[in-house]
Amino acid sequence: MQRISKGDMGRLFIISAPSGSGKTTLCEKIIKLIPNLKLSISYTTRQPRKREINNAHYTFINEKKFKAMIDKGEFAEWARVHGNLYGTSLKRLDEIRKSGYDIILDIDVRGAIQIKRKFKNAVYIFVLPPSMDELERRLRKRMSESDNEIKRRINRAKEEISYYKSYDYVIINTNIKKALRELETIIIAERLKTKEVKWI
Ligand code: 5GP
Repeated sequence: MQRISKGDMGRLFIISAPSGSGKTTLCEKIIKLIPNLKLSISYTTRQPRKREINNAHYTFINEKKFKAMIDKGEFAEWARVHGNLYGTSLKRLDEIRKSGYDIILDIDVRGAIQIKRKFKNAVYIFVLPPSMDELERRLRKRMSESDNEIKRRINRAKEEISYYKSYDYVIINTNIKKALRELETIIIAERLKTKEVKWI
């Protein structure tokens, strides 16, 4: 018996989480662990952080260019997060899907709502921190943000977390290895759904 998954139809995995929940690390690790999976590179008007590389972590552009892309309808979704604009390029999504890869979108809850309206069958995964205290500790350890910025992120985290019940899956990231195994399990299970499998 041979099972062939539908290689021509990239599945969309939407992953949302407040910053400091470990989502970025999870996303970077999962694409190394699972074959045929790519992370969509968003456009943003945010300044690059230390060690962030243009066109690898994000494509960094200015607000004028970003707004021009909005006007031309080039985004599958976009949102203003922490004062900066972030968006997923429709063209990039198409390219990845056509190449037969599944796609991970690391986007905020408002972006996820827009995707839900446009794409059927996307899988929604929310990553929660073990507690608000732990989230704050992780944000402070990161130190790349100012005190005000950290407070802003904590308030926004509370707002974002209030949406987690509208996602299909929830991962509580207490331990990165366990969280990664759970994310891997979700993606594998989705790929094994009967409707996803062609049989010859
Ligand atoms: P950060 O600036 O810490 O990398 O990301 C801040 C937030 O923006 C995160 O919640 C991340 O998921 C979200 N984000 C990153 N890219 C996109 C995007 O293309 N669209 C939307 N809606 N949110 C994004």
